[in-house]
Amino acid sequence: MRCYNIPIFVPHEGCPFDCIFCNQRKITGQDTKATREDVFKIIEEHLKTMPICEKYVEAAFFGGSFTGISAQKQCELLGAAKEYKDQGKIQGIRLSTRPDYISREILDRLKEYGVTTIELGVQSMDDEVLKASNRGHTREDVICASKLIKDYGFNLGLQMMTGLPGDTPEKTIETAKAIIELKPACVRIYPTLVLRGTRLETLYKNGEYLPQTVEEAASLCKVLIPMFRSADIEVIRVSLVTTEEISDGGAVVAGPYHPAFREIAEGEIYFDEIVDLIEKDPTAKTFLVNPKEVSIAVGNKRRNILRIYEKYGFLIKIKPDDTIDAGKIKVWKE
Ligand code: SF4
Repeated sequence: MRCYNIPIFVPHEGCPFDCIFCNQRKITGQDTKATREDVFKIIEEHLKTMPICEKYVEAAFFGGSFTGISAQKQCELLGAAKEYKDQGKIQGIRLSTRPDYISREILDRLKEYGVTTIELGVQSMDDEVLKASNRGHTREDVICASKLIKDYGFNLGLQMMTGLPGDTPEKTIETAKAIIELKPACVRIYPTLVLRGTRLETLYKNGEYLPQTVEEAASLCKVLIPMFRSADIEVIRVSLVTTEEISDGGAVVAGPYHPAFREIAEGEIYFDEIVDLIEKDPTAKTFLVNPKEVSIAVGNKRRNILRIYEKYGFLIKIKPDDTIDAGKIKVWKE
């Protein structure tokens, strides 16, 4: 069944925090306050563009700490989405919030309004990294909130970052392991970008923060993605959504921004697998992958083909095969 997401941005409202990397208005690309009428309008507009077929449609409140806004505002926005859910026009409601903005009272309200998925901005499971990023919550908050969300029967999503101040690849991998222990249904991985107007920008300009390069972030993500996949956790996003703001020449001052970042990270996974297969069988020159992943296996700007050529002195071919699952690769023999 096809899944559709209707994004409804609730920028920075209710968030008294000042995470070092965040300029919420820059991320969402808007700074108006969402209203009930906005929710109706956004859902209507999206529903009109969707094909008539069996589908799972979710209204998704993103862009801030949803459960930090006033209870009245939460009810106003959720109530509008719930009308569509009650009519069967959408099937789910998801939202994102902070781990320390979860309580029984809040979850009771979200249940009443038909929320199905709650995503928590975890960012790191290392208390020192959380402190250096001025997150204002701890690892323990993440653990307690995640357990409570699951006890209530919501789908849990967890969001993590790479390259935060004080973070290291080892600490990031430990964060991923701690997240896996919490058994979320899905994760998002965001390499840290330096955005204009943030405290991270000041640190970067003073030489006190060195962002990851695209290569560094991608080689870390190529480890994280398979860790989650082998734990049966869906990786629903790798890197921020490219918008007018989040783009070269937009609000991104520095850091591992690339419009095809996920493709590069997943291409790295294929590159390692191709090398492994060639090491085991030096005659292997043609490889089969799922038709949807041919371009990922070939690599951004054919980088995998070219690197294999540089390494082994021969050109390989990547062919589509619909019997192969996404993420898998096989040697093709005549
Ligand atoms: S809690 Fe979220 S919205 Fe608030 S400052 Fe931090 S990242 Fe931004």
